[in-house]
Amino acid sequence: MKIGIFYFRTLYTQSAASLSVGKLSNKLLHKGYEVKLFLLNQSNVYDNIAAMENIENFDYIIYKCNYKDYEIGANYFKNLYEKYNKKIYLTGVFACLNKKRIEKKHRFFEIFNLLNDNDINLTFPSIGPKVKKDTVICNIDREIELSEHGKYINIELNNGCIKKCEFCHINLLNYTRTSKSISELVDEIEYLIKCNKTFFIFNDCIFWSGKQDDEKILAFCKEVKKRKLVFSFYVYLSLAPLIPDNLLKELKDIGLVRVFFGVENISSDFSSHYSKFLSTKNTENMIKKLDALNISYHIGYILFYKQVSFQSLLDNLKYLKSLGKLFRLGIIIEKLRILPNTKDAYLLTENKSKIDMAYNYSFDDKKVEKAFNNLTDLFNNINIRNFEQFFNGISLAEGLLKRYNKYDKYKSDLLNFYKLKKEKNNKIYKLIIDVIRTERIEESHINALKTLYSKSEINYLFFFKKLMALDFDVFSMIPHGQETLNVW
Ligand code: SF4
Repeated sequence: MKIGIFYFRTLYTQSAASLSVGKLSNKLLHKGYEVKLFLLNQSNVYDNIAAMENIENFDYIIYKCNYKDYEIGANYFKNLYEKYNKKIYLTGVFACLNKKRIEKKHRFFEIFNLLNDNDINLTFPSIGPKVKKDTVICNIDREIELSEHGKYINIELNNGCIKKCEFCHINLLNYTRTSKSISELVDEIEYLIKCNKTFFIFNDCIFWSGKQDDEKILAFCKEVKKRKLVFSFYVYLSLAPLIPDNLLKELKDIGLVRVFFGVENISSDFSSHYSKFLSTKNTENMIKKLDALNISYHIGYILFYKQVSFQSLLDNLKYLKSLGKLFRLGIIIEKLRILPNTKDAYLLTENKSKIDMAYNYSFDDKKVEKAFNNLTDLFNNINIRNFEQFFNGISLAEGLLKRYNKYDKYKSDLLNFYKLKKEKNNKIYKLIIDVIRTERIEESHINALKTLYSKSEINYLFFFKKLMALDFDVFSMIPHGQETLNVW
């Protein structure tokens, strides 16, 4: 029996490959199915032509969807279902959270939860001996990653999260908890280094979540040192509790170059409503710790949520400006998603023509509504993903250059970059405040935005041109921020 698993790219700051799909493929291979993975592309039909070649040879098709691609993907697979009359399975967090709605509207899909082993076993019973596949590494099918030229790869030590933030999907699904031993993790890293992957993006929700993780982290650092492995990596951390300096230093010594943490919002209303600890003091302490060790950082922030007041919006914009993170335009145009089965779900308006209801709400404050609509219209004039990459890409490059003692060659470029970043941060703030204040978008706003986009693009282009020529190794460790696979 042959199964094809299809999915679209979700995150642009990581590898295009999905860890959950890689793990699912491995489980199906163990049950005797032949499995092939395909990455679809919403904007490049030629990638899809390649993916569809020989689709008629598959007995089953699995579509792992995401809220961003569901509507386009559902139509896609409906047409395939009608053309070939194949059984089509649907999976992914979005599919499971919206199961009832999907089953009503798109009956041709059979939904299962790829994060739950029982559900996988019920949907796909064993049919024969294990099928061998060369791209399986330490129980994950890496078929997509191995075809990508970039040296970055997603990896995981544990799944799940001990926190329960109200806006997050992570604890809404029934999933099978998994945890690797440190020696299994380091074996996996060692193997992947041999496959030319040298930048590891840990997908663990919180890599160190408290004292109980100290032993594990220290054992990890010790084992990496013992085996003399050279690589760089990126982890997610939390603001509470804050990771102690000694552990951070140990991680830095074995290659930690970047950290993600959720600042989310500075309003106490947000904190109580969404059950998430927030603290500007902890944010500042975290930044100090990271700066002291030359570790770059990326933050999560939620600016627009249903209950936000106009004043709170202004305060948060000012705070984002002070953090120098206004280039993260995604934060501005993506309002909080109200997920099914959460306490605010009743506030969503029904719209039978589509499955995803998570954005179907208006803001309580009419001035916030106006600001959100105008800012969304304004920033739709540029490619936001590219714009973020112009800053994220260089900031990651800086961390990697320092790690490999190549910083000096780029010192003046990076100083210029920081000047440009500061200037753009201030300009974006001015632009946002002006649009909010005047409650309209003028041609001059759009022109100013396009000018600052273009200057940032040119700066990125020349920086990466130099990086590509002088330090191709570092260049290829940086996720390229595009939907298509990195296969230059
Ligand atoms: S800490 Fe992060 S992953 Fe965990 S529940 Fe909160 S938002 Fe979700």
